[in-house]
Amino acid sequence: MPSKGYSVGESVMVKWPGSALWYPAMILSIEDDEYKVRFEEGTEDEVTAESIRSAASFRRRSQSKSPSRRRSRSRSPARSPSRQRVSRSPGRKTPAKTKTIISQSKSETKVQLTPTRSKRLLATRSTTEVHTYTTRSSTKSGHQILEPVVDIKTGKVPKTVHYEFGGPFGAFFIMVSLPLFIYYLYFACSKEECSLQLWPAHTCDWRDYFDLEAALLFLGWMGLQAFFYLLPIGSVVKGLPLRNGQRLDYKLNGFFSFILTLILFGGLLYKKYPVAMVYDKFLPLLTTAFIFSIVLSIFLYIKARRAPGHALAPSGNSGNFLYDFFMGHELNPRIGNFDFKVFCELRPGLIGWVMIDLAFVVKVWTDFPENPPWALLLVTFFQMLYVADSLLFEHAILSTMDIIHDGFGFMLVFGDLVWVPFTYTLQARYLADRPSLAVMPDYCLVIVLAFGLIGYYIFRASNSQKNAFRENPYASQFASANVLITASGKRLLVSGWWGWVRHPNYLGDILLALSWSMCCGFGSIIPYFYPIYMLVLLVHRERRDSDHCRQKYGNVWNKYCAQVPYRIIPYVY
Ligand code: NDP
Repeated sequence: MPSKGYSVGESVMVKWPGSALWYPAMILSIEDDEYKVRFEEGTEDEVTAESIRSAASFRRRSQSKSPSRRRSRSRSPARSPSRQRVSRSPGRKTPAKTKTIISQSKSETKVQLTPTRSKRLLATRSTTEVHTYTTRSSTKSGHQILEPVVDIKTGKVPKTVHYEFGGPFGAFFIMVSLPLFIYYLYFACSKEECSLQLWPAHTCDWRDYFDLEAALLFLGWMGLQAFFYLLPIGSVVKGLPLRNGQRLDYKLNGFFSFILTLILFGGLLYKKYPVAMVYDKFLPLLTTAFIFSIVLSIFLYIKARRAPGHALAPSGNSGNFLYDFFMGHELNPRIGNFDFKVFCELRPGLIGWVMIDLAFVVKVWTDFPENPPWALLLVTFFQMLYVADSLLFEHAILSTMDIIHDGFGFMLVFGDLVWVPFTYTLQARYLADRPSLAVMPDYCLVIVLAFGLIGYYIFRASNSQKNAFRENPYASQFASANVLITASGKRLLVSGWWGWVRHPNYLGDILLALSWSMCCGFGSIIPYFYPIYMLVLLVHRERRDSDHCRQKYGNVWNKYCAQVPYRIIPYVY
């Protein structure tokens, strides 16, 4: 064990929990496998043996004169100093790696946390950094094959060797079929009819698909949201450490942009500007958004080709043009402080979704002022709540898979700008197309409201619980929580929502989605497309996330899964 021989008062190097960075620290106390340490700038923390190295091993490394030679050493944090030269080949198994696993499994500890004075100061740590490269480990039956996240020799993100979404063929299929599917949904669920048909009635006149007014409206919308994003309002926070140790600054003013947009919408309405035109221009707006997403994806791919190797996305660096174009070649494409991914993820598409809903409400209520469209109002309320929630908790996106793992390519661009605003508005469009439809008695809508609020509560409470735990696992609310400590020192919560089911937040999301569709009654399956799609998406996402967590946490993740066997829908699978 690398920990053997450490004593209280000794100066060592300690890996900052949850990151790949090592800092000088002093051991304050030792209890079983828990080391209380104090970093140089005063932060105290508790870590396991795997997060400690002797200071001498780092000094040896920094004496190396050639930067490339320095990089060429394997820096698996979990490996003992004496074996750090053993293997440089990603994926090659060595006895040292096997030993890592054994020591890791020994560190699996179920503890009762007590509040400590420890504070997370990740954002301010900049001095005496010793950058190391984390390792990923894919686990088969508990055995690991370690794989550096940054190529040890070149300092670049290594080639993507594991394809997702069916590889280049799957990527091509998705890129062709999803846009076709959105047009299919538009025509299959029209004013006249809303049912699954093989070949729904559709127009062949290109002017129905594209017009200049809609194109200018869309571009104006993108420009407006970009302008709000760039306003010097809102807080600037640091993202999670990147592979080279750098932490990007992110401007968080999404909720402010949302409020400004709502005020602007109200102003336009007051001035009798025909906001309901969005209803009539839905098809050309969709086409413009689609063309825009292709152009933006091409631009991002070209930009990524010029990006430094460490800035590429681990999931979109296969060398296959189609696949990388789809997955996103660069992780965080930016021009200056303008972060394309964070901007597109939360603003034009999400806020646009609510604006489309509101335009539909205006259209129906103007046409039938004596008859408030309660079901449409309820859908709009739910979806506004959902979007406002995402923007209010905007900081949470910085630790999502989309930001830290996925590149920004066609998959996310199309999803953010086309898929979200033009399919998630399906229930509202269904109701706007049928203003006189008595979906259900009004009192039934109250039941739907209650159902949706329960879904939202599960969604919000579980997300907040995890966020609070990630921010400070020592907070008093987790004092008696069951926790698993991983080899990196990061903890997994096995109590509360996260001890009941894996990804309770996904469960809440699905219930909420179902409530939106229930507002449309039970006359057609098509308005239920969204909850069905969410179920498929989140089941798939849960599996992807579970694979990532297994890579990050190895056997401790397996142990978590054993203790919390239920996934998304409890007791079903
Ligand atoms: P989560 O917010 O659930 O984050 C998953 C991460 O949480 C894991 O990678 C792990 O990261 C951490 N984690 C998992 N289990 C535990 C545990 N027991 N204790 C502590 N940490 C744990 O996933 P997403 O980013 O996918 O989703 C965020 C929200 O967005 C969800 O509410 C989801 O429903 C919603 N969503 C909505 C979509 C839509 O289209 N409407 C699409 C996708 C998501 P680590 O250990 O590194 O912290």
